[in-house]
Amino acid sequence: MHLRFLLRLLAALSAAVLLTGGAIPQTLAQTIALTKATLIDGSGAAAQPNITIVMDNGRIRDLGAGVTAPAGATVVDLAGKFVLPGIINGHGHVGPAPRDPQLRQYALYGVTTTTSMYFDQDDVQAFKQAQKAGDLRGARILTVMYRFMSEPFRPGSEMKTPEEARGKVDEIVAKDTDFVKVWIDAQGGRFPKLTPEFTAAVMDQAKKHNKIRMAHIVELEDARRMVDQGVNILVHNVRDKDIPDDFIATLKERNVSVISTLAREEALFVYGGPDAPTDNPFFQKGLNSERLALLRTKMRDEQANDANKPRWVRMFETDKKNLKKLADSGIRFGFGTDSGGALDRYFIQGWFEHRQMELMRDAGLTPMQIIQAFSKNNSEMLGIDKDFGTLAKGKAADLLVLTRNPLDDITNMKSIETVYLGGKKFE
Ligand SMILES: [Zn+2]
Repeated sequence: MHLRFLLRLLAALSAAVLLTGGAIPQTLAQTIALTKATLIDGSGAAAQPNITIVMDNGRIRDLGAGVTAPAGATVVDLAGKFVLPGIINGHGHVGPAPRDPQLRQYALYGVTTTTSMYFDQDDVQAFKQAQKAGDLRGARILTVMYRFMSEPFRPGSEMKTPEEARGKVDEIVAKDTDFVKVWIDAQGGRFPKLTPEFTAAVMDQAKKHNKIRMAHIVELEDARRMVDQGVNILVHNVRDKDIPDDFIATLKERNVSVISTLAREEALFVYGGPDAPTDNPFFQKGLNSERLALLRTKMRDEQANDANKPRWVRMFETDKKNLKKLADSGIRFGFGTDSGGALDRYFIQGWFEHRQMELMRDAGLTPMQIIQAFSKNNSEMLGIDKDFGTLAKGKAADLLVLTRNPLDDITNMKSIETVYLGGKKFE
């Protein structure tokens, strides 16, 4: 009965649209006007007081100090509150299935767009189309579809020759992938890396299709090689050595962006020690009691006794130092975390993004730099800045309302009162 009623309503609405030449009556378009807000738009501009933001049909229709709420709009008084762009996660994972609860969790923590950097089912494209049409049950998703890896990883290492690699790039491009990614990691010397011939073929073919190219790297030597082969984004920081000045110059010259994933580096050891976030309610929101119990026993013991711990701590500290150097040198640094993926890794979606902000602060970045990283920098790096990133007239209405000022202290990003996704309150 309900569905039939909805269908009838939709039919009636389309008829009304036809009759009125396309103009949907104001009340039905669900226009929302946020008034008296302090706006931090993500561009790096200072906070602006007393701003009105008018949203309808998923977009910001108007924004400014002199803007008045249109008649019929739902007015929300945000005096004393702060409006920021939704968080874009430049390195995330959505998988294993099901997709919806993960995207919902991201959105509840304020992540309105995430990347999915592992393997996606083919239906992800239909899913993305539905999201574009306004069916937003969680964060928007952008994907690499397939990750080119070395042996023995399956999936990932099915393609052996450069020719096969090119064929696979063609295949995922035909499936409308957003990005093309290679994974170069010997896992501490345990496995072979993808060969230069192979990665060159992937990069070259992706470039022919005009796709943004990404590389997972650990070591400086591999980062150099990928930059030479035309990568656009290093989705992890260099973590084996301090980045030398000549490589900084190369990154700048080639306009390569770099994502530091400090939350991930920390999560490889933090659960085994006294700084484990297990008692933090903001952390606990992101996992059920069964998983929390496992984290407090099995995972804690594993990490406390992990012989590799000194190496993880070294990588974490190197990532921090290199991030500060990149930021000081004017290299575009993105915002990403490596959250999601296998459940037993405890790379908690949503929590990780807020933890990443604290760790970027610890690395020496200002709140404004961190806010720009998850909005402006990421939208430019991912090629979505026309619609997302900074808050401006005409862009998607993905934004956060905070009760405390994140410019005073970046941990105030946790004071999310409301998430607007596509101009609608997400809850
Ligand atoms: Zn990853």
